[in-house]
Amino acid sequence: MIPYGRQDITQDDIDGVLEVLTSDFLTQGPRVPAFEEALASHIGAPHAVAVNSATSALHIACLALGLGAGDRLWTSPITFVASANAGLYCGAEVDFVDIDAETFNMCPKALAAKLELAEREGTLPKIVVPVDMCGQSCDMAAIRALAYQYGFKIIEDASHAIGGRYRDAFVGAHGLADITVFSFHPVKIITTAEGGMAVTNDADLARKMGYFRSHGVTRDADLMEGDSDGPWYYQQIDLGYNYRMTEMQAALGVTQMQRLDAYVTARAARADRYDAELAGLALDLPGRLEDASSSWHLYVIRLQDAASRRPVFEGLRAAGLGVNVHYIPVHFQPHYRRMGFNPGDFPVAEDYYSRAISIPLYATMSDEQQSEVISAIKAEVAA
Ligand SMILES: *Cc1c(COP(=O)(O)O)cnc(C)c1O
Repeated sequence: MIPYGRQDITQDDIDGVLEVLTSDFLTQGPRVPAFEEALASHIGAPHAVAVNSATSALHIACLALGLGAGDRLWTSPITFVASANAGLYCGAEVDFVDIDAETFNMCPKALAAKLELAEREGTLPKIVVPVDMCGQSCDMAAIRALAYQYGFKIIEDASHAIGGRYRDAFVGAHGLADITVFSFHPVKIITTAEGGMAVTNDADLARKMGYFRSHGVTRDADLMEGDSDGPWYYQQIDLGYNYRMTEMQAALGVTQMQRLDAYVTARAARADRYDAELAGLALDLPGRLEDASSSWHLYVIRLQDAASRRPVFEGLRAAGLGVNVHYIPVHFQPHYRRMGFNPGDFPVAEDYYSRAISIPLYATMSDEQQSEVISAIKAEVAA
């Protein structure tokens, strides 16, 4: 089976993790800050907060921005459920904005139209979570302009997009989002097994996320109420969680980070080859945003005929390809249906879902494996 994605673990990674296991600290030691520093300096972001998953990073990002009951969070219906669930964890109401048909990212025109209506009805969101689907940045300048106009905050869910670029900067460093979140799940660009990171330009948001990831506890005297009792002293100043990353995970992150650019280059070369060799089939290939350069987490083909998606998917699986579908629209999920969402609510996202298949793409995929994928697709899809 050629999987749709897989991790790459080298001897360097193994050595780094083994070293931690015989060191003094398995958690709360020096590796987590080292990984934060390595990531922040590589992409050019001032502050980075490591946690045990991107889901946790989304949650503490929402908490740091003050999301709570009575507030609204809007995201894309074409994402992993975690982007929306973070809003529910905070007691907020979640809604969705339809996608752009070519990039699969939140459509700025649909967002503008929904905001205009919400302003009239008094239902504006506090937070908007654009998702960099497949690793390609959203149209962040357009979304930032709307954030200034309507006063919402932006958490960019860049779980797919570490190493991707928008205009002249890495995703996470252009300053157009308030907070940007990365995932290190094994199918993503780099991995810590489980893990995530929130980056921001804002020192105050970074400080808040720092204590929300660890029970709301601080040892920083400036954040405390009243005076410190002594050198042992800490205070719980808010209700936080245990979302800490371990030292083994962070060690893996440090060595994986060194190969980030090579991974993205390798993925982009494979994406270019798919573009060239799948052109001319009865497929729609991924659209590219002029301002962005993707990290290519996923390569999604869309059948021109939705009725052929299932037989083609089954044919590709039978041919030994670990194809997948990213994603079932979140508003189709029973948990969200119970909140009143229905099929038909976000038609562009639903059309995308009816035709999409993610085909294998990962940094260590060989030319021969890719040839096998291309032949299998040509056998299943008419020219
Ligand atoms: C993977 C993913 C997440 C969740 O990441 P975890 O690290 O597994 O919690 C959130 N959003 C998107 C878009 C993802 O792809």
